[in-house]
Amino acid sequence: MKVEIIPCLSDNYSYLIHEKESNSVSIVDPSEFSTCDKVINKYKKLDFILNTHHHADHVGANLELKKKYNSKILGSKLDKDRIPGIDIFLNENQKQKIGNLEFEVIFIPGHTKGHIAFFFSKEKIAFTGDTLFSLGCGRVFEGTHKEMFNSLNKIKKLPPDTKIYCGHEYTKSNLNFCLEYDFNNTFLKEKKIDIQKKLNSNQPTIPTTLSQEIRTNIFLRCNDPEIKRTLGLKDSSEVEVFSKLRDLKDSF
Ligand code: ZN
Ligand code: FE
Repeated sequence: MKVEIIPCLSDNYSYLIHEKESNSVSIVDPSEFSTCDKVINKYKKLDFILNTHHHADHVGANLELKKKYNSKILGSKLDKDRIPGIDIFLNENQKQKIGNLEFEVIFIPGHTKGHIAFFFSKEKIAFTGDTLFSLGCGRVFEGTHKEMFNSLNKIKKLPPDTKIYCGHEYTKSNLNFCLEYDFNNTFLKEKKIDIQKKLNSNQPTIPTTLSQEIRTNIFLRCNDPEIKRTLGLKDSSEVEVFSKLRDLKDSF
């Protein structure tokens, strides 16, 4: 399974998935037709379009790509009326094949009501859309803070060496937020050097790994005593700490 990163719009990532043996070609969250099509053109085909959620910056090229390549569009059943051109409705925990590859549907509401992640368990690769970012998490638009917190915890339970491919290049601003409230975290300081190196050479900071995120992403560290103290929430629950952090990040 080869994953090619396609930067789209100002800070979106679409991902092309190629599986050699069956020569299947899929794309995750195609934002822009022309940018994505340039990459697809190498293969002259597009079998599947996978959408993590219904937002325009993740489904923008659905219809044009489907028209050109006769692709099948897969998305959450809950978004059957909001994902343009959807053909295959996915349910929580469902296993779904695309060519020789198989992914599991992880239901992670919060950013939107029907947000899902695609987890390729054999390859240990997850596409997390706008729910888990490198060093951050998505804004809570349609769900509750509790839902978002639970969704992040589901992702947290995947194998630690899972590679995470997320929907946006927000890592720099997320890093600054993490440093503000988790300033003594040595892993975060190491990650900062790595991020700066990548960004300085115009490279994506993606993929990250789950184990790195668990050590550095403040939204996955809501039970850390030092962070709780910094926030003045020493005796609060994890979900209360999460809600506070999410609110602070909204106005950061
Ligand atoms: Zn979104
Ligand atoms: Fe987005």
